[in-house]
Amino acid sequence: MTHREFEGWAEFGRRLKAATDAGSPDWARLPPSERIMHDEGGRHYFTGRPCNRGHVSPRDANRCCTQCNVANMRAFYDRKKHAV
Ligand SMILES: [Zn+2]
Repeated sequence: MTHREFEGWAEFGRRLKAATDAGSPDWARLPPSERIMHDEGGRHYFTGRPCNRGHVSPRDANRCCTQCNVANMRAFYDRKKHAV
């Protein structure tokens, strides 16, 4: 893992709790912000804050919540299926 400017225990603790509550404590090891994600060349980051739809999950480089991506993809294929 690359060296990272530490976000501070309060912030890390908040993210760790959010990740643990969401069932994936590993998410706390993701970069805490989009800027740090880019610095590290990663593809996901985790703020610990819920998205517009209330998912607590990592965000990708487009700032899209990964659970929303899955939901959107599922809706897209469902629409296609029903269109046939
Ligand atoms: Zn979402």
